[in-house]
Amino acid sequence: MAKFEVYSFEDLMNEVRSYMKNENNLALIEKAYLYAADKHKEQKRKSGEPYIIHPLQVGTYLAKLHAGPSTVAAGLLHDVLEDCDVDPDDFTDEFGEEIYKLVEGVTKIGNLKFKDEKEYQAANHRKILIAMASDIRVILIKLCDRLHNVRTLQYQPPEKQKKIAKETLEVYAPIAHRLGISEIKNELEDISFMYLDPEKYHEIAGLVENKKAQRDEQVRQMIISIDELLADKHINFRIFGRSKHLYSIYNKMLKKNKRFDEILDLLAIRIVTENALDCYEILGYIHAKYTPIPGRLKDYIAMPKFNMYQSLHTSVINSEGTIFEIQIRTEEMDEIAERGVAAHWRYKEGKYNSKEEQKQIEERLSLFRDIISIKDDEDLDDQVFMETLQRDFFDTNVYVMSPKGRVIDLPQGSTPIDFAYRIHTEVGNSTIGATVNGILVPLNTVLKTGDVVSLQTSKNSVGPSEDWLKFVKTTHARNKIKSFLLKKEMESRAPIIERGESMLKEEFERREVDAEWLQPKKLQEIYSQYNLKEYNDFMYAVGNKAISLSSIMDKVNKKAHAQAAPTLNSNTVYVREEKKKYTSKLGIRVAGIDSIKISLAGCCSPVPGDEIIGFITKGQGVKVHRKDCPNIQKEGNRIIDVEWEEDYHDTKYEVTLYIEATDRTFLITDIVTVLSQSKAQLNAINSSVKEDKVNTVTTIKIVVDNSEHLKNVIANLRKVQSVTKVERKIV
Ligand code: MN
Repeated sequence: MAKFEVYSFEDLMNEVRSYMKNENNLALIEKAYLYAADKHKEQKRKSGEPYIIHPLQVGTYLAKLHAGPSTVAAGLLHDVLEDCDVDPDDFTDEFGEEIYKLVEGVTKIGNLKFKDEKEYQAANHRKILIAMASDIRVILIKLCDRLHNVRTLQYQPPEKQKKIAKETLEVYAPIAHRLGISEIKNELEDISFMYLDPEKYHEIAGLVENKKAQRDEQVRQMIISIDELLADKHINFRIFGRSKHLYSIYNKMLKKNKRFDEILDLLAIRIVTENALDCYEILGYIHAKYTPIPGRLKDYIAMPKFNMYQSLHTSVINSEGTIFEIQIRTEEMDEIAERGVAAHWRYKEGKYNSKEEQKQIEERLSLFRDIISIKDDEDLDDQVFMETLQRDFFDTNVYVMSPKGRVIDLPQGSTPIDFAYRIHTEVGNSTIGATVNGILVPLNTVLKTGDVVSLQTSKNSVGPSEDWLKFVKTTHARNKIKSFLLKKEMESRAPIIERGESMLKEEFERREVDAEWLQPKKLQEIYSQYNLKEYNDFMYAVGNKAISLSSIMDKVNKKAHAQAAPTLNSNTVYVREEKKKYTSKLGIRVAGIDSIKISLAGCCSPVPGDEIIGFITKGQGVKVHRKDCPNIQKEGNRIIDVEWEEDYHDTKYEVTLYIEATDRTFLITDIVTVLSQSKAQLNAINSSVKEDKVNTVTTIKIVVDNSEHLKNVIANLRKVQSVTKVERKIV
């Protein structure tokens, strides 16, 4: 690995002065340095050096990228909020809101933590990082921070070295690539490569070193040759050879399955000139003199790469048969290729020469933000690129953090309650309040990316409220809240069931009934006579005094006498079903719930065969509606799946029908006759003549077995003379 320079404050200022002239800006950077030096003065790096060396290097790297004054200052200050106990208000007074935001952004990203491998995914991590840095300059500072950290990785324990190297290779190098900062990208890759696979790294480094002298000479000769070619063409240009970085060689060997020699054959030369026209002209001269390799010409000037990279690429063969890869570009293109997004530092910081320029630069920068968020393919074509942008990740997700820096991704629109249930069901159930970024907020507050969410929980909390269902966003939270509410509902039945049991026991003792009658098996004989299928429902009814003790005693006495005579199958009569399936007396099953009160909604009166849906009421168990009942359509939050029990014939169901007819004598009589022929019991009838004195409206309440039966009844009613309309009524 190449040795790197350690920069002094003087180096930094020299670098800055090379592109920044405004005295105020220079003063700002000096002030930032002095402030940071003071705040860090007690601290040391792992290497034993004074801590300030680190932010000073980061600031200088930023200056080398020609970053703007605020960015350089923020680079110098990037660790003071986290490490030095600096009060944010004091800091803002000193350096202003803009720099504070930058430093805060860097600090936030530094606190990202992942629970485990499963949570940590390089691509995901990258997206989170980008999403959290609302300002692209934060990423720039973070990249320089990371660069210095990997440059000094030798002071870390081996395990940490590997971890940081892996993260750098998977997360930070691709970001640098997307931002077009190839210098930083290449170095991040090479250093990480060295720590992750030292053997391979040194092997390739050795091979490169071996051939270096020979290759340098070949490049030197070619440069002289091109120099001569262009000498009398009145074009300004500079030309130089360049070396490939080790990781890219390794990658090519790996991906394209090539030998080292095949890759190294590509000797690389770059020509930098004044304008695009010159680039094409130079290309023309070169192609005229050397043989171009077909298919190797790439015009990235006319068609820039996704990261704004522009250049002409070609490969040619010289008279000795050596292949050269030649890049031709302008100074501006070269700057963008090397420094990428940093070349646009005037964004937000500098003066623009015109509105047009400002617009152009801002557009480019916003595009950069998008670019770094998309997936990994090296050669994205424009089509795929635009499509990927449209499916923009950030439209659908927000990333928030726990106070300890754990990242939780949630759908857009999520609230602290969604966050709480994502952490743990128990946390959700015991949440009583939440703060977002340190401020107490209502529980229905919509979270934004980067929010730090802290929950207040209490063991004594009454649990989730029904209101939560109105605003939670995730299905997960919704389901957990619903099942809690149902459980609570069932628990509220428990004391009544217990009361029923002790009432019955006392009564049996008082009347000296054989204790065996208290066994659930035995009791089933009794409560089945009340159309009850469950022991608990029976005891609930007893506890509620819905069934009187004397009526139970009657039935017990009858049974006891009947059983005095032995029966053949007495052993099998009381065997309970192995698989316990709850069925209400209505013949309706509630998904996943053993025992809960169920009733039919009066508005739409469902009958077996209808599509039905359950609605969790306040304190009255589940109300069952028809699926298309308009009264239920807006109640998405409290809906629960229910279904009809098959082969259930014990209960009859009341429905209301609405009959329109032209008035005539005997209409009602005919309706009643049809009902009795259809075996539908009539419970109520109400008929009136409309204002027009011609038509009548009759509402009837009838009892049917199921939807098939009901369909029949309706069909028969429609056949009644003068009837124009028969409908089930929903009130
Ligand atoms: Mn740092």
